[in-house]
Amino acid sequence: MLEKTELAKAKKRGLKIIVGGPGAWQLRLRTKFVDDHGIDCIIDGEAEKVVGKIFRTAVEGGELPKFYEVSAKESPSLDEIPEIRNPSINGLIEVGRGCCRGCQFCSVTLRPLRWYPYEKIEKELKVNVDAGIKYAILHAEDVLLYGSKTVLPDREKVLKLHMLCKHYVEALSWSHTSMAAVASAPELVEEIAELIISDKQEWWGTEIGIETGSPELAKKVMPAKVRPFKPEQWPEVVKTAAGIMTDNNLVPACTLITGLPQETEDDVIKTIELIDDLKDFKSLIVPLFFVPLGKLKDKDWFTMEQMSNLQMELLIKCLRHDIYWAKVIMKSYFQGTWYSRILSFLYWLFVKIVERKAKSVYNIPLKTETHSVEAKT
Ligand code: SF4
Repeated sequence: MLEKTELAKAKKRGLKIIVGGPGAWQLRLRTKFVDDHGIDCIIDGEAEKVVGKIFRTAVEGGELPKFYEVSAKESPSLDEIPEIRNPSINGLIEVGRGCCRGCQFCSVTLRPLRWYPYEKIEKELKVNVDAGIKYAILHAEDVLLYGSKTVLPDREKVLKLHMLCKHYVEALSWSHTSMAAVASAPELVEEIAELIISDKQEWWGTEIGIETGSPELAKKVMPAKVRPFKPEQWPEVVKTAAGIMTDNNLVPACTLITGLPQETEDDVIKTIELIDDLKDFKSLIVPLFFVPLGKLKDKDWFTMEQMSNLQMELLIKCLRHDIYWAKVIMKSYFQGTWYSRILSFLYWLFVKIVERKAKSVYNIPLKTETHSVEAKT
């Protein structure tokens, strides 16, 4: 969009380009891209209370800040967050903002925790349903903690939320949850699965952070992510949560971080061991390099050039895991749609290309482990 000639012409007539959204922080470090594409202002954070004054400045021809970081004080209260007026992308329904866990590498945790009331959620569901959307992805940093003021799920509130949603939509998924919340509430996850799983939906998905397999590193950078458990228990918490998710057809995309400033070789070895233990866990595991955010925003990025052999081994383990499970997951992913065969084939082809490239270019053998489920396409 930024490279369209129409945009370049409008720019000459005085158009201002203001960018926001969850990935906007990346542009702070891409100054050349920002200059080349004529971006006037980047807003990082929840913009409800600041976007008005920035737009006014733009319209009045005033000087815009190149990068506006929304402070915690400027975060909107529940009453200041407007409801959607048009259907949301992928049926996304926000049920809360903020997170109480305080991981050092995360900026979300710097903002206050707010859970939306049922009335607000219902209004947004209606907007989507009226537009013909028959599914919803509940969005919060930890959907299982909906309505809770602690790190333990509030059973009544979470069940009520799911019953409300199921009244409006046929299929339901979560944007995010946490290993600790899942591990702390196996019966609740089972009750939710009973509400969600039906002849219209045989599994549901979420994104979930593993981050590390090292209790020592967990203690240093994310002690509250482990609660109500102790950091020493972290690998066991992850494995317990994985078992609960498997039993209840909850299929997650898990994230890992390597290259944290505090990470040692021993931490990487422990993460590799944990990934080994998760090989039968139906999931995708996505390794990420550390990026300076949250309380660690003054640290340096971790780059590919800094990668050790151990970190490379960790990435290869994840690649093996993902290639194997992607083939299994994609079989049910598009089920029930007229285009399922076409898309499954295209995704299968994509995974095959990745597999071939890993073997031929990087000499990574990928079929070395046996699993309890066989991946056939
Ligand atoms: S649990 Fe997730 S959202 Fe909360 S602070 Fe940690 S990384 Fe951020």
